[in-house]
Amino acid sequence: MEEKVHLIITGDNRESRSVVMTEKRLQRLMRGGIVTAVLFAIFSVVSVYTLIQDHSRQQRMTNLESQVKWLSDQNDHLRNQVNRQRSEKRELISTAVNHLNERSTQIETLLQQVGVDVAVEETAAGQEGSGGPYIEADSGNLDDALFYSGELLKLADQVPLGCPTEGYLSSSFGRRRDPFNGHMAFHSGIDIAHFTGTKVYATASGTVVSCGVVSGYGKMVKIKHGDRFSTVYGHLQKIYLKPGTKVARGDAIGTMGNTGRSTGPHLHYEIHDNGHAINPYNLTFLNR
Ligand SMILES: [Zn+2]
Repeated sequence: MEEKVHLIITGDNRESRSVVMTEKRLQRLMRGGIVTAVLFAIFSVVSVYTLIQDHSRQQRMTNLESQVKWLSDQNDHLRNQVNRQRSEKRELISTAVNHLNERSTQIETLLQQVGVDVAVEETAAGQEGSGGPYIEADSGNLDDALFYSGELLKLADQVPLGCPTEGYLSSSFGRRRDPFNGHMAFHSGIDIAHFTGTKVYATASGTVVSCGVVSGYGKMVKIKHGDRFSTVYGHLQKIYLKPGTKVARGDAIGTMGNTGRSTGPHLHYEIHDNGHAINPYNLTFLNR
């Protein structure tokens, strides 16, 4: 005989019912309840876990999206900056090239005015004058303009310019009556007269090729300026230099004297262009 269990259920109206079932059945019922409760608990935990997972995944997506947006904003910003700097650089180079070309033209004009042909190799493109078109410049143009103005400056540095000493022009270049014998003769330079001891200066950069006493010239210095020009300073009292000395324009080379074939203290000054004596007047008296 199976044992029965009596379950008495009391309602609010004090009426009571009894449910009778076997113990086994009660145990089955209780087991079923426990299993259901456990399943429900597992289901709840999994649901909550999934919810949390979803939420954090969404959060990560949102973060990622905002990071991507920030990076792309930064990218745009940088691209704009680069573009701006590029165009600023182009503008700077354009301005520099045009300034350089203007300067070069000024130097060219100056050199041509004093009778020096500008024969810089025209590797530089677009050497328009200052009135020429505005050149859209790149770094290549800048290199060309720099090269060209550099060559011009080098040339200008080697062109004898200005007066080598104080004094007045006492004799010009060309045919003249010789002050000693009265015969017509060729004067290969100009004479500048002043006091004995007046300093004499180099009129361009170069190297001393000879110095010492030379027949007719007295104490003389000859300086070579690059491949094209050389200058000669005669009748000196003192010489400060030795052959091989490098000089810059404006360096003192000696003092005015009366040595050699001279009638009074003066400097005999010659300029040679490719080995030929030229009239130094225009290059010497630039402002006259
Ligand atoms: Zn002379």
